[in-house]
Amino acid sequence: MIDVRRIDANDKPMNPKGTHIIYWMTSARRARWNHALDHSIELANEYNVPLIVVECLALGHRWANDRIHTFVLQGMIDNRKLFESSSVTYVPYVETKKSQARGLLQSFSRNAVAVVIDDFPTYMPRDVAERAKQLADCSVRCIDSNGIVPLRAPQRSFSTAHSFRRYIHKNVLNFISSPPSSDPLKNLNPVANGSEIVSSCFQEVDVPLTPLEFIWRVSEGSREGREALEVLDIDHDVPPVDGRRGGSLTARTELKKFIEQRLDSYNVDRNHPERRGGSGLSPWLHFGHISSFEVVNEVLTSQNWNPMKITPPHNGRRAGWWGLSEGAEAFLDQVITWRELGFIYCFEHPDHTSYDTLPEWARTTLEEHINDERPYLYTFEQLERGETHDPLWNAAQMQLRKDGIIHNYLRMLWGKKVLEWCPDPETACDWLIRLNDRWALDGRDPNSYTGIFWIFGRFDRGWFERSVFGKVRYMTSASTQRKFKTEDYIRKYADS
Ligand SMILES: Cc1cc2nc3c(=O)[nH]c(=O)nc-3n(C[C@H](O)[C@H](O)[C@H](O)COP(=O)(O)OP(=O)(O)OC[C@H]3O[C@@H](n4cnc5c(N)ncnc54)[C@H](O)[C@@H]3O)c2cc1C
Repeated sequence: MIDVRRIDANDKPMNPKGTHIIYWMTSARRARWNHALDHSIELANEYNVPLIVVECLALGHRWANDRIHTFVLQGMIDNRKLFESSSVTYVPYVETKKSQARGLLQSFSRNAVAVVIDDFPTYMPRDVAERAKQLADCSVRCIDSNGIVPLRAPQRSFSTAHSFRRYIHKNVLNFISSPPSSDPLKNLNPVANGSEIVSSCFQEVDVPLTPLEFIWRVSEGSREGREALEVLDIDHDVPPVDGRRGGSLTARTELKKFIEQRLDSYNVDRNHPERRGGSGLSPWLHFGHISSFEVVNEVLTSQNWNPMKITPPHNGRRAGWWGLSEGAEAFLDQVITWRELGFIYCFEHPDHTSYDTLPEWARTTLEEHINDERPYLYTFEQLERGETHDPLWNAAQMQLRKDGIIHNYLRMLWGKKVLEWCPDPETACDWLIRLNDRWALDGRDPNSYTGIFWIFGRFDRGWFERSVFGKVRYMTSASTQRKFKTEDYIRKYADS
């Protein structure tokens, strides 16, 4: 049984005469460590009906592009492999016309016992789940598989990482002791295959099943893959990222390499642009190809951790509470505290992408400096092309365009400079969302809005008064270049 705080259901009853359970997979795109899959399996066993998993990729969202499509389709190849040996009927489905999926979901819901769908606190998956609750003819169960802390558990958001850490210290043991199953498919009772139901639902709304050959071609990520995507009405100017393949299998390999090779030095190396200190997992975490439960579990296991190692008091300190190595403590602070701080904030504040949600002190101080002379002013297009006077900033922007991410420390600098070089802070906020969500593989995530709004003071405190920034924290390229070696980084992306 999953924690009831992870379930948000509409008010329609289960249909005990239904022929199947449908799990509409939109954000937790994985076959393991997935509360929504656990719940779907419980229901399929209880009602003794086939479980159909439709992994859906929609077309009609603001930032649909070749980069996102390729990464998600690569994930579908892995999921197909992982579901193959079970009695789940797995259907990877790529929308070819806007809103096509809506009719399809309704068709699947008509004779279903229940619909299970992912709960995600932002962007398109959130809207799809809301619509599903209204559209479906049966019980719709939105399941939160996002993180260690269920979104509905705290019943409040936190204004600083410190206050959230205190909450974590007091409660995290309860949450980590009820993980999703690491191998849920073995729990599914064998039942009849759901293929006929799938065919009739697709036929009913005259929607074509996605040919496997199409998924294979796109997942190759090569020129042929991009040609295959040309039939879709999406942004073709954002290309797939070379060397970052989507999918649960790659995600697990990356996790393993990180733990073996970089976890111990994470606390030191993470901030150095020229060392690969981070886990690099954010794209896979974003698309749900890997669960933070699995990540945390692997880290704790690698350190032979047990709850006896916890060192009270539960006072929200950044390091030393878990009783782990410095690298592991620092990493858990990012993947639990910082990641989930933003998930809970987005859940509690549905308008989290609005400038008006910044803390009052930050809005006031930025407003007081709105007429300060900006040292440089750039257009959105100049920024997007990485054409500023600052080689380090341009390199960060080119890394975003090429690799779909920016090194963590430089991502902060990158954001601060946009605030400095824009006509006003509200425009800067809008431009940062546009730059990040269009080009970042891990964009459109609660973490995206944690990072972007942190630039303007959310989750931070006031510092010294400065031109343009007011009391909002300030960063310079010059001091970054003094602190860290950046020449190779700049050279690497200069000609991208
Ligand atoms: C302006 C700006 C924009 C950002 N946009 C995004 C974004 O679109 N998507 C995204 O995932 N992160 C974003 N971040 C946060 C952070 O930069 C990335 O999460 C991190 O660089 C990802 O690299 P990694 O996977 O190697 O992280 P690691 O250092 O290995 O950390 C592990 C995981 O912890 C989480 N995490 C780490 N740092 C942060 C942080 N500061 N805030 C929230 N969660 C964190 C991520 O899920 C990350 O994958 C942004 C930060 C800033 C300042």
